[in-house]
Amino acid sequence: MKFYKDHYDVIVIGGALAGLSSALMLADKGLDVLVLERHNLPGGLATSFVRGGVEIEATLHEMMSIGNKGNRLKVGQFLDDMGVDVDWLEVPEAYHASIPDVEVTLHPGFERFSKEIDAVCPGTYDKVNRLMKLCLSVYNSVNELSIHPMSKVQMLLKHEAFVKTAGYSAKEVIDTFELPQKAIDLLSPYWIYVGGPLSTLPFTIWAFLMADYIGYGSKVPRKFSHELSLKMAEKAEAMGVQIEYRQHVDKILVKDGKAYGVRTRRGDEIYADYVICSAYPNKVYTSMIEPASEVPEKAFKVVNGRQLSLSAFTVFLLLDKEAKELGIKDYNVFRAKTMDTDKIFENYKGLGPYNYLTAICLNLANPGCTPEGTTILSITALPRVDAWKKVSGEDYDKVKHEVAKAMVEEMSEYYGVNLLDHALEVIIETPMTIAHYTSMWNGCIYGYLHDMKDHIVARLQTAEEEKIIDHLEFSGAHQISGNGMGPAVTNGRKAAKNVLDSIAKEKERA
Ligand SMILES: Cc1cc2nc3c(=O)[nH]c(=O)nc-3n(C[C@H](O)[C@H](O)[C@H](O)COP(=O)(O)OP(=O)(O)OC[C@H]3O[C@@H](n4cnc5c(N)ncnc54)[C@H](O)[C@@H]3O)c2cc1C
Repeated sequence: MKFYKDHYDVIVIGGALAGLSSALMLADKGLDVLVLERHNLPGGLATSFVRGGVEIEATLHEMMSIGNKGNRLKVGQFLDDMGVDVDWLEVPEAYHASIPDVEVTLHPGFERFSKEIDAVCPGTYDKVNRLMKLCLSVYNSVNELSIHPMSKVQMLLKHEAFVKTAGYSAKEVIDTFELPQKAIDLLSPYWIYVGGPLSTLPFTIWAFLMADYIGYGSKVPRKFSHELSLKMAEKAEAMGVQIEYRQHVDKILVKDGKAYGVRTRRGDEIYADYVICSAYPNKVYTSMIEPASEVPEKAFKVVNGRQLSLSAFTVFLLLDKEAKELGIKDYNVFRAKTMDTDKIFENYKGLGPYNYLTAICLNLANPGCTPEGTTILSITALPRVDAWKKVSGEDYDKVKHEVAKAMVEEMSEYYGVNLLDHALEVIIETPMTIAHYTSMWNGCIYGYLHDMKDHIVARLQTAEEEKIIDHLEFSGAHQISGNGMGPAVTNGRKAAKNVLDSIAKEKERA
């Protein structure tokens, strides 16, 4: 019996959230799909690892766009529709801001959030609440437009707030509300989830983030992000998708400007009408297209015109006591030496010590996630990729341990306890770990930087022109919806929709 069929409708490269979302949506429409994943497990970054006999969430802090049963948001609804039944747990708060001159815990819900900021910055309730409502309006528009692009005139008629604010940075729009700096600082911590300083981050992106996380709160799967990816893979297989692990795709086969298959590292040539690829366009255009002569000059212009966004550096500490015994009270702490996001962004260009950290204690959302009497704490900084690329093999261990040590010391100071005295396991994840584990370009987890020169609105408008090779679609953080697990699902759906639209068009033409 042959291992692969002679032909598939679609080959998906990468069996993580984006790729699996594409596969689910296409299988649901009756297409014959093959997923090729280089690792021996599905999920990519949506995974966990085991140390000292304890399973540990590898990445997820909080997932957006899920919503509650009966009132699902975009991603939650898609998963429900596909029959991917995940046990979602609510994250108990938005964040604790441990920033210069303020210590406060803020909760989701526009009303509550605005009141809590007002308690620290009296007189700001109305303005913050209005700003959040503006964010919600933009959020609703982006959700619609990311799936159903429309003409500029239609956009103006239907999405006024979105159009009016689209040309401005988050800072510029926030400034029009004339809030005191302390309130702005309290509104800023989530910037890190999209990776651009507020001065250059399009308001559209910031608004989306705030409306989703503050408006609806966030979730985590009881059995970690791997519950999500495993269940997606199981469901896809149940729907007839063939998933093959340990199959690294080396080449995408192209003839006369059109993709027609792939070649794996093992040497298998597999054919399909369409290819959907999770690898970054940078990787694809520089080394995956065969023959290389099929890559037009324009492809390099598109990728070189974009800046890579952030990677991640995380220290995981499995601790020998319950969270409350260690003074850990909040699920998510943003600890900053400054809330000037330009300064933080600059600091992230280097190798530390980092001036902006986030610490997650998963036990506070998911009490059974570690054995009784223990706690898992992850401390993360999100550096840019360039400095890490320059670290030599010889220096790597030294640099990694120095950066990790400074991060643990900073959070030890915050909690008032020497965390290392309680550490049963210490695990360090660097941009190199991420590059090695997922093959993501330079370990970049956030795709391309969103800034005012490379704005989501422009990306929506130029998406068609940026289709360089026919029948080749991309899905992953590098696509329009950007980074994060929720957006990965949306990007995967969008790639699948592009394939379905193209099939429909070609049928019409035939
Ligand atoms: C420390 C950390 C914390 C994070 N926290 C959050 C959070 O709180 N909330 C959130 O929403 N997101 C978070 N993220 C980001 C989130 O994990 C990712 O954005 C998302 O999981 C990306 O999914 P993906 O499918 O686009 O890509 P990936 O998960 O990167 O997967 C790509 C897949 O493609 C495979 N692949 C690549 N090249 C090939 C090839 N040539 N052949 C075959 N297979 C290939 C890889 O093996 C991998 O499985 C975090 C990430 C990190 C690192």
